[in-house]
Amino acid sequence: MYATKVSERVYMLDTFALGQPGTVGAYLVKGPKPTLIDCGYSSSYENVLAGLAEAGVMPTEIRYLIPTHVHLDHAGAAGRLLREMPNAEVIAHERSVPHLVDPTRLIESSTKVFGPAIMGLYGTPEPIPARRVTAVGKETHLDLGEGLSATLIHTPGHAPHQISIVLDQTKVMFTADAVGIVYPGMKALIPTTPPPSFNPTELVSTIASIRQTTPKELLVPHFGARKDVEWVFDRSTELVQRWVEQVEGLWKRKMSLDEAAEVMEGEVTRDAGITELPIMAKMSVRVSVMGIMHYLDKNI
Ligand SMILES: [Zn+2]
Repeated sequence: MYATKVSERVYMLDTFALGQPGTVGAYLVKGPKPTLIDCGYSSSYENVLAGLAEAGVMPTEIRYLIPTHVHLDHAGAAGRLLREMPNAEVIAHERSVPHLVDPTRLIESSTKVFGPAIMGLYGTPEPIPARRVTAVGKETHLDLGEGLSATLIHTPGHAPHQISIVLDQTKVMFTADAVGIVYPGMKALIPTTPPPSFNPTELVSTIASIRQTTPKELLVPHFGARKDVEWVFDRSTELVQRWVEQVEGLWKRKMSLDEAAEVMEGEVTRDAGITELPIMAKMSVRVSVMGIMHYLDKNI
């Protein structure tokens, strides 16, 4: 199944990233102006189209495509999808726009982080015509028709150009990666602290500020709808701080990325009360440890 109704007018679309269910989600607001929030890797764009079909929305009906940030699992498919969505306007943070229009540097830095083999699996993002993009800043209101509206809030920390989105009427929040990774059925959270621009102070203050908007439900890209809002905010804050401290300890002992990632995998495995982490969770842990080490290299 590609599309699941998770809230009033909202569908979660499973993008089946690298063929895996339940890891990278996108969301559809099925209102008078259908809006797609995030769209997964370039290599899985067809799954997004399948999700829209299941939810009963044609690609030509999409009015807004909002990549919450430019990371490939959120915006990778945007350029490719826009070819099927002639009536869609892209809305993104002003610092995202240059990377959406010309992804050359994004592709270079992602290749550095993931390596060429994995980049091949993710697929290459296509450039988006500048005339189709509208830039937003700190906070923007968006009219979605017939009394439905959204507030787009700048939520830096995970990435400096990230936005999260609240549906004003129902107070559901599309968190983007402002909160940790919470895979369904796994009772553990993995902090979202990737290279190249993770900033712990900003991430913690972003979580505090979106918490003040008192969302009723969180729609998390990795992965799913969460009604345990307080738990997700509490754990996200706590674990960013704990992981930075722990990884700093390992980094000071000159541990390699592989060794440090193994230690943190052990932490998540224990938290989750399982014996072996799923492969996508392992990849997430490694990227988050890499992001913290990169931050330490730059700042200490
Ligand atoms: Zn991200």
